[in-house]
Amino acid sequence: MIRLYDTLAREKREFEPADPQRITMYVCGPTVYGRAHIGNARPAVVFDTLSRLIRHVHGEGSLTYARNITDVDDKIIAAAEAEGVDPSVITDRYERHYLDDMRALGVRDPDIAPHATREIAAMIAMIARLVELGNAYAAEGHVLFHVPSDPGYGALSRRDREAMLAGARVEVAPYKRDPADFVLWKPSPADVVGWDSPWGRGRPGWHIECSAMIRAHLGETIDIHGGGLDLIFPHHENEIAQSRCAHGGAPLARYWLHNGFVDMGAEKMSKSLGNIVSVGELLAAGHRGETLRLALLSAHYRQPLPWTGSLLAQATAILDRLYRSAGDAAPAEVDGGVVDALADDLNTPLALSRLAAVSDAGSLKASAALLGLVGETHDRWFQGSGDSSEVEARVAERTAAKARRDFATADRIRDELKAEGILLEDGPQGTTWRRA
Ligand SMILES: [Zn+2]
Repeated sequence: MIRLYDTLAREKREFEPADPQRITMYVCGPTVYGRAHIGNARPAVVFDTLSRLIRHVHGEGSLTYARNITDVDDKIIAAAEAEGVDPSVITDRYERHYLDDMRALGVRDPDIAPHATREIAAMIAMIARLVELGNAYAAEGHVLFHVPSDPGYGALSRRDREAMLAGARVEVAPYKRDPADFVLWKPSPADVVGWDSPWGRGRPGWHIECSAMIRAHLGETIDIHGGGLDLIFPHHENEIAQSRCAHGGAPLARYWLHNGFVDMGAEKMSKSLGNIVSVGELLAAGHRGETLRLALLSAHYRQPLPWTGSLLAQATAILDRLYRSAGDAAPAEVDGGVVDALADDLNTPLALSRLAAVSDAGSLKASAALLGLVGETHDRWFQGSGDSSEVEARVAERTAAKARRDFATADRIRDELKAEGILLEDGPQGTTWRRA
C-alpha cells in the first residue's frame, strides 16, 4: 500500500485511486523560455520516481501521466521580442532542451504532454462555462475569475483573505470587481500572439491552461496533482477554484503533492560546483545525469535540498559502489525493503540506504531501476559518458604492440593513458579500461 502526504489534508493518506487500472496523474510542467535550472528538474525527477513506484505496485499500464508544456506566456513573448523571432522559435528550442535535459536525468517522457497553444479551444470553452455560471465576468477585453463566488477558495493554501491579498501584492486593475480576482483571458494587441474568442482577440492566463488540459486529457477529477511548493498559491488554488466551479463541485484532485526547493544557499558555493545551476551546464561540465538524479533524490522530496559542493561527489561515490556491486547482473526480484521505503511517501533517503545493503546483484539492479538508477552497464559507467573511441583506438594499438612483442610501445601507451586518468586492466578476455 502506497501512502502519500496530501497537501490539502495536511497528512499522510493511504493512496486509493478511483480506478487502480487507470490511475491519473498531472504535474505542472515548464514554461519554455530558458534552460532548466536544477531546481526545475526536481519535480520532474520526483514525479518520475513516483510514476515508477505506481507502475511497480499497480501494473505497468495502470498509470496515465500528463505533464504540460506552457508555450504561451509573457516571458516567452518578451524573449521572442528580444531576439526578434516568432515565439514558437523560443518555445521549440527550449522544449527540446528541457526534454533532452530531463532524459539525461533518466526522466521518462510523460504519457501525455499537452501544449497550451494547441488547447485554446478547451480553455475558451471552460472560461465560457465559468462566465455562464456566474463565477467569471468579462471586463475591458479581460475575463476574470470572481474569487468571492467560490466559498471554498483558499483551502489548499489555508490563507485567509487578508493573507491572500497581501501575498498577491498585485496592483489592483480598475476592471476587477474584487482585488483577489484573477485573469482567465487577457487581450492581445495586434503584434502579440493571440486567438479569437467571444471576448475579442487575446490569450489565456496561465492557471486556466492546466484546468482545461486536465479536463480534456484526464477527466474532471484526477488521482494525483503535483508540482513544486511554490505552485500551491496562487496557481493550484486557482486551478482548484476554476475546475470545481466548472464541474459542479467535483474536486480537481484526490491527492495534492508538492516538492520542496533546491536550496542554492546564501553562502558562496564551493569551487567544484562553481556557480553552475542549469542542468545543461552541469551536464556539459561532465557531471552525469544519473549523478544529478541521485543527488536530487538524496533528500526527501518535501524537504529543502541544500545544493552543496560535496553533494555531487557523494552521489558519484554512491553510484560507483552500486555499479561495483551490481556488475552486469540481469535484473531480478525487486527488494521489498526498497519498495516499502518508497511506498511510505516516497522516502528516497531510506530507499537509497536500503538499496546499498541489497546483496544480490540482480535484485540490486532491479531495485535501483525503481529509482531510475544503475541503468548503464558496469563498463560504460566506469568508462564515463565521454567519447571513448579515442581510448578504444589506443588500447587496440597497445594490444597490437604487445602481440608483436614491442613492450616498450605497449608500456608507453599504458603510461600515457594513465596520465589522462584512464586505467587499463589485462585479463583473460583481453584489456578493459575505466576512468579513474
Ligand atoms: Zn498547473
